[in-house]
Amino acid sequence: MHIDEALDVSKIHSIMGLLPADSPILTQRPFRAPHHTISDAGLFGGQSMPTPGELSLAHNGVLFLDELPEFKRNVLEVMRQPLENGSVTVSRASGSFVFPARIMLIAAMNPCPCGHYGNIQRVCRCTPPQIQRYRSKISGPLLDRIDIHVELLPLNDDEMLKVPDSECSCEIRKRVTSARSTQLKRFENTGIYCNSQMEQSHLQQHCSFDKESQSYLRHSIKELQLSARAYDKILRVARTIADLDSSENVKQEYIFEAVQYRTLDKRLW
Ligand SMILES: [Zn+2]
Repeated sequence: MHIDEALDVSKIHSIMGLLPADSPILTQRPFRAPHHTISDAGLFGGQSMPTPGELSLAHNGVLFLDELPEFKRNVLEVMRQPLENGSVTVSRASGSFVFPARIMLIAAMNPCPCGHYGNIQRVCRCTPPQIQRYRSKISGPLLDRIDIHVELLPLNDDEMLKVPDSECSCEIRKRVTSARSTQLKRFENTGIYCNSQMEQSHLQQHCSFDKESQSYLRHSIKELQLSARAYDKILRVARTIADLDSSENVKQEYIFEAVQYRTLDKRLW
């Protein structure tokens, strides 16, 4: 983390008494994974004299929500505001409290209640209304605020036993670290630290692309019925893919890749 980010994270953990005894400052990004039975107060901050919740404890780090549709619908809906603003507002009789909550949200869900929909090795016994009810727990507006949607298919026996011959995560880490330092340099003295925090003016400055990509994007917006918010997110993701590839320019292939991460917008909802 940047030193300013580390100080913010350490302050939040300190007032909750969560700083390790041997470390006055946290240097690793936090990772929080609350259970789906968590209360509103536990997630957003609460009680009569409000204290930060899981969202704020994950500030500048990762909040992982497994089995996303199992979380209460009202809890998921309230998530929209912090995902947009990077902060949580808790109102009580004693006043309104604002806690920082600039998080990277990672969420996982099954394709249907039994988990086998789309799996060629197992039979899904859910009815279409059951599947619809399950998926509709994640509203369109919430999904719209998630930058990257990825579908994963179950592994077959062979794939499970085989050692994958893919890139090891220590190599990927080097790419991520280098992309992060490119972004720190890009946004020096602007108060933001990475591409996902870019405002409109930054997008215009750092995400220019050629005419062909423009017409492809126009076509995608129409086909996938993308919102203006999704369009901005595609630009930020494309800029990040370019950084991971050490490329100064946002090439067409990066735009193509960023658009394909939005496919759930239309397919499930
Ligand atoms: Zn099923």
